[in-house]
Amino acid sequence: MLDRPSIEHCPNCNSTHIDNYCSNCGQRIYRKRFTTKGFFGVVGSAINFERGFLHTAIWMFRNPGTVVSDYLNGKTKIYINPLNYILIIAGAYAFLVLSLNILDSTVASTNSLLQTDQMQTSPEALELQSRWVEFIKKYVNFMPILMIPFASLFSKWYYRKQKLFYGEYLIINTFIFAQNTLITVLFSPVIIVFPSVLDIYPVISISLTIIYFTFAFKSIFKNSVLGSVFGTLFIFIGGMIFFLLFMLLIMSIVIISSKLLGVNLMNIAQ
Ligand SMILES: [Zn+2]
Repeated sequence: MLDRPSIEHCPNCNSTHIDNYCSNCGQRIYRKRFTTKGFFGVVGSAINFERGFLHTAIWMFRNPGTVVSDYLNGKTKIYINPLNYILIIAGAYAFLVLSLNILDSTVASTNSLLQTDQMQTSPEALELQSRWVEFIKKYVNFMPILMIPFASLFSKWYYRKQKLFYGEYLIINTFIFAQNTLITVLFSPVIIVFPSVLDIYPVISISLTIIYFTFAFKSIFKNSVLGSVFGTLFIFIGGMIFFLLFMLLIMSIVIISSKLLGVNLMNIAQ
């Protein structure tokens, strides 16, 4: 059963168009049984994956325009797939947010920046807020990912002269959003060394975001600095508003259906 003297069909999809890989499904064709060396070859492909990650991370700082034009022209092998890229970074980010209490401090400092204490925040409102913070904490790693479809809509409109597909904007924005989250992750040692930085964290975070997006858009679309700043603000704020409207819609559906079903929302957010 384990003898594979001459493989003529792809073991995965049965196609006969095979060489070192199946040209139909991409399955690698192993013509020999797995040796110890072959087992360590699996480690090799994990290292390749890491290399793709590192290459992408470095070049998204050095020249995002190169990454995007390579990727959109089909030179994808040296890069990590953008969805894998953002999932790995979002995982690291979620871990940091939970361990450094960034979100709690962000809520606290946003409250003090907006001076909500002057508005006599009711204990009920505070209670609800803290429950939602707990709720958001659980899903924090999905937040930037959920904003990408909306930001892509706005970038397709803003950069409509480029005549790119919506799917291509999804790729571009996934790379940029991932890199922007990576910046936050790389910034976290500063928070560990200087915990007081958390007081002004929202300001720092927004500034870094605007700077990186502007740099990336300028590198990718080769427009002026001012055009890139406007693009960043338009795409980021537009994407954010649409994302919040979408969340509001989801929340209204949840609230309405829970009212209809007689479920207490306070218990759901726990
Ligand atoms: Zn196949």
